[in-house]
Amino acid sequence: CGIVGCVGRPDETLDVLMHGLSKLEYRGYDSAGVALANSAVEIEKHEGELANLERAVDDDAPSGPVGIGHTRWSTHGPPSDRNSHPHADCEGEVAVIHNGIIENFQTVKDELTAAGHEFTSDTDTEVVPHLIESALADGASHEEAFRAAIERVEGSYAIAAVFAGGDSVFCTRQDSPLVLGIDDGATYLASDVPAFREFTDRVVYLEDGEFARIDADGWDVSTADGEPVEKTIHTVNWDA
Ligand code: GLU
Repeated sequence: CGIVGCVGRPDETLDVLMHGLSKLEYRGYDSAGVALANSAVEIEKHEGELANLERAVDDDAPSGPVGIGHTRWSTHGPPSDRNSHPHADCEGEVAVIHNGIIENFQTVKDELTAAGHEFTSDTDTEVVPHLIESALADGASHEEAFRAAIERVEGSYAIAAVFAGGDSVFCTRQDSPLVLGIDDGATYLASDVPAFREFTDRVVYLEDGEFARIDADGWDVSTADGEPVEKTIHTVNWDA
């Protein structure tokens, strides 16, 4: 399983994501999907090999300056199109990808269901977009809503989100790998460096509990409390 993300290559977002997912196939997966954000969030996702997703995006390519992609190794809910990631909220304002397990998802899901949220998958992951939706409805910004959702979940995760009308990707990790790729004018995220090694050799490794925001102007990393973290940019000296 794996996650990828890309900002700053508006005409190539989909190609960059598909390339990244192909480089993460070695990690194993049973489904794959992408979400690209423009004024709306466009999601394409399919059970099975990456080739299934490739065929689908050949017919109807989502586009946008900001995007995320996912390969799933099912833990909650069988492999299927609807259990594939990205997952969205009811309003289609946000798309979320997740590797790992959200241990307290049932409690959160029961609360959200009682509050009127309708779930469309069997995954633990789907609580995250609905938590984000709740926070947005309470007036939170995209970043505040992402942080508020993560505050509610317990478990292991690398999670990333894009928003309709947003120009950033937000991500965080706990007991699951997540790394940024830094280039002039473009920033990437992934579970592992090979996903973007063809585009840049400069990488920033995130630690557990750190949050990153990447956008066309660059990137920043902070703690759960929003304190900026000084990160070292490493240069990798191998080819993918
Ligand atoms: N627990 C999530 C699911 O079953 C994510 C699995 C993964 O790591 O790909 O959908």
